[in-house]
Amino acid sequence: TGKKAFVAGVADDQGFGWAISKALAEAGAEIILGTWVPALGIFEKSLKMGKFDDSRKLSNGQMLEFAKVYPLDAAFDKPEDVPEDIATNKRYAGAAGFTISECAEKVANDFGKIDILVHSLANGPEVTKNLLETSRRGYLAASSASAYSFISLLQHFGPHMTQGGATVSLTYFASEKVIPGYGGGMSSAKAALESDTQVLAWEAGRKYGLRVNTISAGPLRSRAAKAIGFIDDMINYSTANAPLPKELTAEDVGNAAAFLVSPLASSITGTVLYVDNGLHVMGLAV
Ligand code: NAD
Repeated sequence: TGKKAFVAGVADDQGFGWAISKALAEAGAEIILGTWVPALGIFEKSLKMGKFDDSRKLSNGQMLEFAKVYPLDAAFDKPEDVPEDIATNKRYAGAAGFTISECAEKVANDFGKIDILVHSLANGPEVTKNLLETSRRGYLAASSASAYSFISLLQHFGPHMTQGGATVSLTYFASEKVIPGYGGGMSSAKAALESDTQVLAWEAGRKYGLRVNTISAGPLRSRAAKAIGFIDDMINYSTANAPLPKELTAEDVGNAAAFLVSPLASSITGTVLYVDNGLHVMGLAV
């Protein structure tokens, strides 16, 4: 209660970022969003038009509110990193200060210290290509947007977070075992994200008293997942083979994230928490 959370990676009501925001709001936190610039216009319009009103209903009868929505492109750290074609792109031209350092600065100016940082974003331009066919450019883009983006967020938000604060990101089992089809270097990016979770737990723990954890989530029919192309197969596989034969909901992950960033988890840091109906324990499909 009374905590401030910055959630990076919400652009509709279908993904994990939305569900995490909602679970944190249910627990009494104030929610500040960072939304990817190309998706910002339609997100804000849909929000205003009431398109998400059903999903905004909280259990106490109130509506999920966002204190502010900032434009963000987590592939860029400083204004000088933004290439000319992006800077002059129609969708970016109207959104000032969308790099991570500028966004963190604005949030700190507007809200002071924040308590919770959520990273719920990923992007792999070549995700539909096998790793063996992935270009250097595609691989590095996946790592940049999906793994380094967390380091940079923590680097820039860390100084503006309260001692005892917490961060959480979202990862996927393809980092550990082969998931054919999760390509473009996204499996590599998730492996980096999980390894970085450990190193950053150590570093940010000592430097800022922050906790750093990641949730390895089961398959969810989000916008990002639909872009990969075989999300229905993954959901069916999970339902057929996981210890708990039910479909994972975004709320399941939202609740786990709310636990991880709460005082209930005050001694948990550097971990990967599986929220996947137990699928990761299986070695053989039935
Ligand atoms: P989503 O589409 O709701 O979220 C991804 C978000 O990332 C989108 O809002 C998109 O606008 C944003 N984004 C992309 N590039 C960005 C950039 N450069 N800067 C800022 N934002 C950017 O989909 P989701 O599935 O809820 O994804 C959230 C996280 O969950 C991701 O890390 C994803 O890899 C992870 N995850 C998803 C699944 C699944 O099955 N959906 C499973 C495990 C892990």
